[in-house]
Amino acid sequence: MKGFEYLEKEIRQWQDAGTYRSLTELESDQGARVVINGKEVIQLSSNNYLGLTTHPRVKQAALEAIERFGAGTGSVRTIAGTFSMHEDFERELAEFKHTEAALVFQSGFTANVGILATILSDQDVVISDELNHASIIDGIRLTKAGRRIYKHTDMEDLEAALKETQDARTRLIVTDGVFSMDGDVAPLPEIVELAEKYHALVMVDDAHASGVMGRNGRGTVDHFDLNGRVHIQVGTLSKAVGVLGGYVAGPAVLRDYLIHRARPFLFSTSHPPAVTEACRAAIQVLKEEPELIDKLWSNTRMFKEGLAKLGFNTGKSDTPITPVIVGQDALAMKFSDALLEEGVYAQGIAFPTVKRNQARVRTIVTAAHSREDLEYALEAFGRAGQRLGIL
Ligand SMILES: *Cc1c(COP(=O)(O)O)cnc(C)c1O
Repeated sequence: MKGFEYLEKEIRQWQDAGTYRSLTELESDQGARVVINGKEVIQLSSNNYLGLTTHPRVKQAALEAIERFGAGTGSVRTIAGTFSMHEDFERELAEFKHTEAALVFQSGFTANVGILATILSDQDVVISDELNHASIIDGIRLTKAGRRIYKHTDMEDLEAALKETQDARTRLIVTDGVFSMDGDVAPLPEIVELAEKYHALVMVDDAHASGVMGRNGRGTVDHFDLNGRVHIQVGTLSKAVGVLGGYVAGPAVLRDYLIHRARPFLFSTSHPPAVTEACRAAIQVLKEEPELIDKLWSNTRMFKEGLAKLGFNTGKSDTPITPVIVGQDALAMKFSDALLEEGVYAQGIAFPTVKRNQARVRTIVTAAHSREDLEYALEAFGRAGQRLGIL
């Protein structure tokens, strides 16, 4: 069809630069090993930190929910799509997170957009880390609030931003808890102290910390013993929790306001019963099987040490997200392809997702990987790295 020549032109440029990627199809479930192109390979690119996508209790909860309550809800939450299970789950989440209330959105992405676009007006200022997730950036684009972006985890720059914006009605500092491309952790204790000194609010997006950090995977706020001092916590149900969704945990007044005004909540259909009941079961698993989180961290230590021993540049990660930084965009894609030939799936990530010349293969180990899986993967990294002259 004519009319899209301008898009084709741009796509050809990506192809020439070696950064054009087709979608990778999985022919199996999302496990420690997956089937791609008919071949079993080690999965190092999922966010399925604890292996909960295939946990028997989580799957069973979804099956029973479909039998009893059907495949869909048929409405948005605010009209006819709130089932008792939605409200029960939100009470359970609030209790889990030690907050007054919680509200579930269709995804972490819509939670961020919904919150930021809704609670700020032109009298307010949002103060945001430069490496925050795209959904935070898009939420900020939708507000009429003033914006001040501070240098990544730079507390001097954050303090300067707080000093510059003293006239605003509300200042909201927003940060990822764990940064998704580098795996570093936000200096939350310092952020909270500055916020208290300058009377600002704090919002933490714990997408990559939910189920990973804090007691039973409660997130970075719990990890740093800051319960009660962070105003808004966002979590995802799509990563370590293994299903789909996002939520906000915070004061009851915030939940009430969002129910009435957050557009993704108001204008998009509620989670199907299978999703909600699977999420509830997954949170129970976090409470009852903390050994999964221990396994995740011992696998993380082993894999990071192995990569460092081989001589790769793995940046400054403190979490199971370990980038293997190679520099050039096209090289990262070639490295990813070479790893797949060696039996390891680790996706290349390039500009604009990360800065230029910071292209990488990003790895995430999970609790579901065995030591043999990870030893095999390390050998594959060694061979592919040598073949491409990265090592
Ligand atoms: C993945 C991610 C999200 C989006 O979560 P979904 O539930 O997948 O929509 C939001 N914020 C951060 C920091 C993320 O890494």
